[in-house]
Amino acid sequence: MTRIAFSTRMQVIGSISQLRTALDERRRRGVPIALVPTMGALHEGHLQLVDQALRHAAVSVMSIFVNPLQFGPREDFGRYPRNVERDAELAKGRGVEILFLPSAEEMYARERVITITPGPLAHRWEGAVRPGHFTGVLTVVAKLFNIVQPQVAVFGQKDIQQVTLVKEMVRDLDFPVNVVVVPTVREADGLALSSRNAYLMPEERQQALVLVRALRALNSAFRRGVNTGRALESVGLQIIASVPAVRLDYLAVVDGRRMESVERAAPGDLAIVAARVGGTRLIDNIVLGSV
Ligand code: AMP
Repeated sequence: MTRIAFSTRMQVIGSISQLRTALDERRRRGVPIALVPTMGALHEGHLQLVDQALRHAAVSVMSIFVNPLQFGPREDFGRYPRNVERDAELAKGRGVEILFLPSAEEMYARERVITITPGPLAHRWEGAVRPGHFTGVLTVVAKLFNIVQPQVAVFGQKDIQQVTLVKEMVRDLDFPVNVVVVPTVREADGLALSSRNAYLMPEERQQALVLVRALRALNSAFRRGVNTGRALESVGLQIIASVPAVRLDYLAVVDGRRMESVERAAPGDLAIVAARVGGTRLIDNIVLGSV
C-alpha cells in the first residue's frame, strides 16, 4: 500500500483488520456507515457517489481497489489508471472519512475457492463480451459488504448492469444493505465520465461522443412516440454507424430489471450501448423517457 501522510480526519487504511477495528468503534456509537466502492482514478462521477453516501449516512467509506478478478486476461488490468495521492486528496476534499486501499494480497490472501456465481443476467451484454467479469465484480462487492458491513452502498447508473446485479445479489443472499443508485455524471458535451476516458486521444474523444448522441437520439424518438425496441435500436445504430472508427459491441433497448430486449418499450426501460474507440472500451446508457 502507498503511504500517505494526512493532517486531516480522513483515515487511510490498507488492512482488513484495521478497517474493522476503526468501523467497530463507530458502529458502537450507532453511527450509520455508507460504502462507495471504486477502482480509483477518481472523477466527479465517483465524488457524486460520496455526496449521496453522506446524505444517507454519517460515515463514508470509500474503497479503491483495482480488482484483478474482474478483468479478463486480455483486458486493461495492467494499464488501468492509478493515482492514489490525487485520489486521496479528492476523496478527503469531498468528505470521505475512511479510505480503504487494500492490496490484492490483502483482498485475496489465499487461493480463491469460493466465488459468487451470478444468474443469467450476468451472461448478457457486458457479461457476453467479458466472460467472468460479473463473478469478479460480485465476489469483490460481497467481500467489501462483509468487511465494511455498511447500511448503504452507493453505485453509479453508468454501470447499470453492474448495479442491477448487485441488487439481485443483495436480495438473493440477504445482505442487509440498501443499494443507492446515482445518475450518470457527464462532461458538458455529454460524454459519460469514466476513468477510461483518460486513454482517449483527442480525436478518439470526439468520436466517443457518438455514444451519447445515439442514446439521446433514440430517447428523443421514444419521446416522439416510436416505441418498438427494434425501431428505436435502428435509430441508435444508424448514428453509431456514422462514425466508422467506433466499433460497436452492442446497442439494445432493454427492461430495467432483467435487462432483456423489449419488443415494446415503456418509460423506465433502458437503452444500453458499448463500443470500442481505438483501444478503449466505453459503455453508456439512458433511461427512456428521461429529459
Ligand atoms: P469504477 O471506479 O469505474 O469501478 O466505478 C466506481 C463506481 O462509480 C461505480 O458504481 C460506477 O458506476 C460509478 N461511476 C463511474 N462513472 C460514473 C459516472 N460518470 N457517473 C456516476 N457514477 C459513475
